[in-house]
Order: sequence, then structure tokens, then C-alpha cells
Amino acid sequence: MTAAYLSAALEKSVSITVVESARTPRIGVGEATFSTVRHFFEYLGLDESEWLPKCAGGYKLAIKFQNWRGDDTHFYHPFERLRTAEGFSLADWWVAGSGAGRPFDQACYIAPALCEAQRSPRMMGGALFASELDSHLGRSTLEQQRAQFPYAYHFDADLVAEYLAGYATARGVRRIVDDVVDVEQDERGWIRSIRSKHSGDLTAGLYVDCTGFRGLLINQTLGEQFESFQDVLPNNRAVALRVPREDARDMEPYTTARAMDAGWMWTIPLYRRNGHGYVYSDEYTSPDDAETALRAAVAPGRDDLEANHIRMRIGRNRDSWVKNCVSIGLSSAFVEPLESTGIFFIQHAIEQLVKHFPGPDMDPHLARSYNARIARAVDGVKEFLVLHYVAAERNDNDYWRDAKVRSVPDGLAERMEQAKTHLLDEESIYPHYHGFESYSWNTMLLGLGAGPTKGRPVLRHLDPAAAHKEFTQLTAEAAVMTERLPSCYEYLTSIQPH
Ligand SMILES: Cc1cc2nc3c(=O)[nH]c(=O)nc-3n(C[C@H](O)[C@H](O)[C@H](O)COP(=O)(O)OP(=O)(O)OC[C@H]3O[C@@H](n4cnc5c(N)ncnc54)[C@H](O)[C@@H]3O)c2cc1C
Repeated sequence: MTAAYLSAALEKSVSITVVESARTPRIGVGEATFSTVRHFFEYLGLDESEWLPKCAGGYKLAIKFQNWRGDDTHFYHPFERLRTAEGFSLADWWVAGSGAGRPFDQACYIAPALCEAQRSPRMMGGALFASELDSHLGRSTLEQQRAQFPYAYHFDADLVAEYLAGYATARGVRRIVDDVVDVEQDERGWIRSIRSKHSGDLTAGLYVDCTGFRGLLINQTLGEQFESFQDVLPNNRAVALRVPREDARDMEPYTTARAMDAGWMWTIPLYRRNGHGYVYSDEYTSPDDAETALRAAVAPGRDDLEANHIRMRIGRNRDSWVKNCVSIGLSSAFVEPLESTGIFFIQHAIEQLVKHFPGPDMDPHLARSYNARIARAVDGVKEFLVLHYVAAERNDNDYWRDAKVRSVPDGLAERMEQAKTHLLDEESIYPHYHGFESYSWNTMLLGLGAGPTKGRPVLRHLDPAAAHKEFTQLTAEAAVMTERLPSCYEYLTSIQPH
């Protein structure tokens, strides 16, 4: 992603070389994204109907949280902003009792109905169901996002990596398949060159460390401190399985995050197979037991499928840019994948790198500003994720009970206290850019059972007619779209290459 984007952003004025090991595989997970990822692909000038089918892609309208309030419960966290009536969000009106007794997510959003009916967000022929959002973005960035685009993608991360490698090399990026075996530093400790096994020493003005959890340059060579978040986010392992779908047509346009005894399990539907994984804390279950639980849940009788066990490094570098090295991806930061933020962090980092791209003098102010933004975005997501565990009503074992008594990041306790009396807004969520808006925070609070129990007092002074009308209209729109839109699988089949 980094090489492809830099080759598009800096065009031919900078020469870029990627060194990638054939022996050390990529992590092989990372299949669900954020809706803002479309800015990335559009920036590169890539057309979704061209690249998505080549990457076994599917659509993601929401995350379905299952069993987070106890068994047989669920709610959706969609890519959809809340509508308003009389200056208050439908969530406010819903808390005040205007939702006609329907669950919060179904009353306030269209996406849950489309998810349940496995609809595609695009009509046959390609038109988006919310046509006013289907604008051509061109070279735009996360900062320029104005409207909430209604979907993100599921894809095979390895296929995307290969696709982007083709894109980048066609634009002059040099790709060397080799192992970096040594790193040489100068007298100031800056990286002078990296030594590859077969291609010798390679020298650059700026080194981008994309070596995953190893942090070969940033941590192992430059010794930058990695600040762990495990005190507040204890999940430190995952086990993943790729499972062919028995009926490929049974394709959900959403990610599922199902609460488990010692963590949660993802289901990510790709075009013909599902990716599944159990993210857990090894303080509460063992890798063998986690694998057994995962297999029992998603692939009973398929012992032939190979499980991928992964140790996760949760936290971030104190600084992601140190001297002449910028770490991007897992080498920089990772919070567990509950809200699919890994690729979002990468996109954010790349955009910020372009914005802060150094000149020959390597002005330290650029690195300082870059580091502050990366740290704030990661810390915001960390806080949002901790909220998931603290707010979840589920408390049927030590894992879930302990989540409620762990210390929480600064600011979150206050926000949660406030949310007991009224919902949050853009001024009361985590204050810096981290990808999530107040509708997401409120959806999680209400979905998990930690929102306010009574409406804002002011709503008693307002006529609820406008809100009732909005709820009714939303339900009608959802019904029409469910009727008109093709299934997710049907639409994706129509754009497969022949
Ligand atoms: C369990 C889990 C689930 C995840 N789910 C999601 C998700 O749903 N959505 C999301 O957005 N993100 C997710 N992520 C994050 C996502 O997987 C990563 O952000 C993404 O794959 C990028 O990884 P990476 O390139 O930083 O590291 P890696 O994939 O580990 O790649 C490291 C690269 O460095 C190379 N390398 C390493 N050492 C050397 C060397 N000495 N010489 C040469 N090359 C070397 C390797 O060959 C490899 O190509 C998940 C992560 C985990 C752990």
C-alpha cells in the first residue's frame, strides 16, 4: 500500500524500492476494512469493479456484534450517520422512547435491514443505492471526507498486496524479493544502508519499515520503545481459518464479531470463502482450546483446514518516525482487529507521510507533527475499543467480568459517565481524528447496553412528530431498497472477470 501510494503521490520524482522476503510470509489476515478505504483506491485511480473481483472482494455495510449483551443478542454498527429531527439525532429520540419499540439499530439505520437481507449496496449495473454519495473522489484524502460512504470492503489481503505490487511496479517501483539480513547505521545512529542477502547493500534517503510485528528497523535497529496497550486491551493472540462457503451465494455484506468465552470471533465473507478467527487473551484460554472452539463454531468436521496461530503485539511505537525511518503497518501500531482499523491506520499513516514528506534537510518538525498525529489516531481507537469491553453487558465469566474492572484510558471513564445521562456528540467523544464519529460511539454505547436510560429532558418540550415521520420514512426506505437491490453475491458475480 505504501509503495503504491507513494508512487502515485510523488510520481516519478522519487525512486522507490521495496524489499520483501519470500521466506517470511505476510501475516495473511486483515480482510475487513473501513469505508474510508475507498479514498485510497480512488487516489490510485483504481476502479472498484476492476480490482475488487480480482481480490476475492465483497462488501461490508456494518459490523454485526453478536452475543455482546449475552447469548442470542445482536446489533449492527453500520457505516451510516444518524439522521436528525428538530436538531436532535434519531438516537436521542429513540432513547426518549420514539422508536416504536424497535431495537435501536433497526429503528435508526437503514443498513441493518440490508444486512439481514444480504443485499448489495449497488444495483445491477453499478448504481449506488444512495446515489448522492456516489461521487468521484479523485485524489482525495481522509481529511476531505464529508459524507459517510455506506460501505467498506472485505478482501483477500494477500491478493490485494499482489495487485498493488503490480500497480506499483508498473509505475516504476523497484521490487526486490530478498531478505534483509543486516542494517548499518552512521555515527548519529541514522540508517546508512540495509544489507540484503542476494542484492547487497541498499541505500536510501528515507526507510519505511513495513516488516510487521518485528519492527526490524524501528524497534530492533533504532531501539524505539513500543508502548504496550495490553493493560487495557488484553487480547494478545488470534487463530484464523479460511473456510470455503458451502453455498457461495450465502454471502453476508457485513463482518460479524461474535463474543466468545475469552475474546471474540470474526467472520469475514469473501467472494467464495469466509475468513474466520478467534481473537483471545492467553491469560484466559490456551491456543489449543481457542482453535477447538473456533473449529467447532465455524468448520466442524473440516480438520483438513489449516489453522493460522498469530501472536499479536498490541500498542504503538512511542514515535513511529525516528531519524530517517518511518514505520507503517504492524511495525508501527496495532490494536486488536475488533473495528477493522489495521488497514485504516496504514492509509492514515501513508497520507500523513505524504503530507509531511521531508526535504533533504529532514526538518525534525515534520517528524514531530507526523508522530503526534499517528499517536493520537491510534490512542483514539484504543479508547474506542476499550469502551466495547467496558460497556458490554456480558459478564458471565472472568474474562468479561475482569474487563469491567480494568483501568480505562484517560477520558473514557468521564465519557462513559456522561453517556449515562445523555448521548455523546463530536465535542464529547475522543477529541482528535481517529476515524470514528459520534454516531459510532453512540451506536456502541446503546448496542452494548451502556447508553442513557432516559431521554434528554429538553425533548419533552419538543413536538416528536418530525422524529416519528423520520423513523417511518427510514423504515419505508429500507423496505424499498431491500426489495430493489440484488443480493451481495448476485451483484459481485455480475462484475467477475469472464
Ligand atoms: C489477527 C489479526 C487480524 C487482523 N484483521 C484485520 C482486519 O480485519 N482489518 C484490518 O484493516 N486489519 C487487520 N489486521 C491488521 C492487518 O493484518 C495488517 O495491518 C496488514 O496486514 C499489514 O501488515 P504488515 O504489512 O504491517 O505486516 P506483515 O503482513 O507481517 O508483512 C511484513 C512484511 O515484511 C517482510 N519482511 C519481514 N522481515 C523481513 C526481512 N528481514 N527482509 C525482507 N522482508 C521482510 C515480510 O516478507 C512481509 O512481506 C489484522 C491483524 C491481525 C494480527
